[in-house]
Amino acid sequence: MTYQSGRHFLQIPGPTNVPGRVLRAMSAPTIDHRGPEFADLAREVLAGVARLCGTGGPVALYPSSGTGAWEAALANTLSPGDRVLAFDIGHFAALWTRMATQLGLDVDVVEGDWRRGVQPEQVYEKLAADPEHRVKAVLVVQNETSTGAATAIPLIREAIDRAGHPALLLVDAVSSLGSIDYRHDEWGVDVTVAGSQKGMMLPPGLALNAISPRALEASRTARLPRSYWDWKPLLGTAETGAFPYTPPTNLLFGLREALAMLDEEGLPAVWERHARFAEAARRAVRAWGLDLVCQDPDGYSPTLTAVMVPDGHDADQVRKVILDRFDMSLGTGLGRLAGKVFRIGHLGDLNDLTLAGALCGVEMGLTLAGVPIAREGVTAALDYLASAV
Ligand SMILES: *Cc1c(COP(=O)(O)O)cnc(C)c1O
Repeated sequence: MTYQSGRHFLQIPGPTNVPGRVLRAMSAPTIDHRGPEFADLAREVLAGVARLCGTGGPVALYPSSGTGAWEAALANTLSPGDRVLAFDIGHFAALWTRMATQLGLDVDVVEGDWRRGVQPEQVYEKLAADPEHRVKAVLVVQNETSTGAATAIPLIREAIDRAGHPALLLVDAVSSLGSIDYRHDEWGVDVTVAGSQKGMMLPPGLALNAISPRALEASRTARLPRSYWDWKPLLGTAETGAFPYTPPTNLLFGLREALAMLDEEGLPAVWERHARFAEAARRAVRAWGLDLVCQDPDGYSPTLTAVMVPDGHDADQVRKVILDRFDMSLGTGLGRLAGKVFRIGHLGDLNDLTLAGALCGVEMGLTLAGVPIAREGVTAALDYLASAV
C-alpha cells in the first residue's frame, strides 16, 4: 500500500470516526483494574452511560460487540420456549431474530418490506390477540442500520400499554444511542442494547444493557443458560467500581472522554446535528434522482441514509469506485439489499464540511460508475446546510 495523503473518509454507519481526543485518552498506560484509580474511572463511566441511556437504573457494561449485548438482553430475561415478538424490518432485526431462535425462544416474526420501521399498530394487533400473555418480550430495533428506517419507541410502548400486555420491551439502540433522542426510563424500555462504535464515537469492543426494574425482576426467574452474560455479577459495578473480570481499561478511558464530549456539546444539540445531516443527505439523494430505501417520512433515520441504485447497476461497484478514487468507505447493502443499496453514515464525530465532502465523493463516484444522476445533489445539500442552523 502506498501512502494516501489526507484523511480517509469513514462514512459507514459504524464503526464511526474516533475523535482525536478519544484516541489520545485511550493511549494512556493501562492501569490496575483492581486499583483505586480504576474504581473511580468505572464509577464515572457507568454513571455517564446511564445518563446517556436516560436511566437511573443499572447498566451492565460488557467487553463485547453489540451482538453480545443482544444475547445478554435475551438470556437474562427469558426462558427456553418463551414466545417473543419480532419484526422483519431489516438485516439487524433479522439477525436478532435468528439469535433468539438459536437460543431456543419461540419467535413470532411479523413480516416486513425492509422499507420502514416497526408500525405501532402491528404491535398492538399482535398483543391484543394474545389474551393469555404468551408473548414475553417484544424485540424492536430503534434505528435499523441496514435500511435507514427508525422506529418511534414511545409509540411502541404506547401500543403495548394500550393492549394491556405485560411483555417486556427490548430495544436495540446500537446505531442510535448518543445520536438520536433516547430515554430508557421515560419511554418504559425494559432492556436497552447498545454498542460503542457508532454514536458513542469509540472503537468497537464495548456493549451495554440498561436494565429496568421489571427486567431485573424477570432475570431472577429466567432460565435461559447464561454465564458470561449474566447481569448479576455486574450489577454492583456502578457502586464498587469493580468488574467481575478484566474490563477493557483503555476503551473505558476513551468512553470517559467521549461522554465528556457529548456533555460539552449537549445531547439535544447532538441529536439536532444528526437530524440536520440526515435532511441534507436526503435532499442530495432526491436531487440526484435516486430513491431512499426508507419509504416512511416519519421514520427517516438521523444517522444514516440508505440509497437504492437503479436496476442494472451494482451498488458495490459504486462503492469500489468511490473507495479507489476518493478514499471513502460507504456502507454496503446487507442481506437482501446486497448489491442494490449503499449507505452513507452520518453519525458520530462529523461536521457540515465532513458531510459535504462525503456527498461530493458520492456524487462524483456515481457519475464515474456510470449511474445516471442529475449532478445537483451536492448543491441541494449545501443550500440546506448553509441555511439551516
Ligand atoms: C451495528 C449494529 C448491531 C451489531 O453490532 P455489532 O457490534 O456488530 O455486534 C446491531 N444492531 C444494530 C442496529 C446495529 O447497527
